[in-house]
Amino acid sequence: MNFPSCIVLDRDGTLIRERHYLSHPDQVELLPGVVQGLSRIRALGLRLVIATNQSGIGRGYFSTEELEAVHDRLHSLLAKGGVELDGIYFCPHTPDMGCACRKPGTQLIEQAGRDLGFDPKQTIVVGDKSCDIQAGKNVGGVTALVRSGYGARRGILSDCEPDLIIDSILDLAQLLTAAKGHPSGSLYEKGGAWS
Ligand SMILES: [Mg+2]
Ligand SMILES: [Zn+2]
Repeated sequence: MNFPSCIVLDRDGTLIRERHYLSHPDQVELLPGVVQGLSRIRALGLRLVIATNQSGIGRGYFSTEELEAVHDRLHSLLAKGGVELDGIYFCPHTPDMGCACRKPGTQLIEQAGRDLGFDPKQTIVVGDKSCDIQAGKNVGGVTALVRSGYGARRGILSDCEPDLIIDSILDLAQLLTAAKGHPSGSLYEKGGAWS
């Protein structure tokens, strides 16, 4: 693919510390390298979108209003570091509802693409779980497993085959920065590195 136009980010365990059905703004804690990484990615001209499964709503653990309060907190923590997101897309359903938006479903990413004008194939989909990686494969994007949250678990790579493995969002920023500077136009080759 060409240099990506958007980075699609999982939320829990990828940008913020994984908490069991996080539902309160006070529980929001950015992971190391997130602010610095996102601001560098932003500076390269890429869009930043969150796509997150929030089945806690469908399970009745918290409301959409509580989720919005959490996202307000996330926006404000990122804004302090000078980072703005283009959107947060969430699935409120439980797995047994059989919706098309819950990752590995593709609807959240496709909707973001329509809203913001990017091709879902021209994305890097980042997450800490196999459902994130599978969602990225399902839209035809490049996939990156981050080794935070569930991604730090041993055996995670027996569940999924990401194109890239990164330790933090800052790692991804460094990869993208290197790729952007490459004279051939920074194409990504499956199974290997940027070329
Ligand atoms: Mg996650
Ligand atoms: Zn859904």
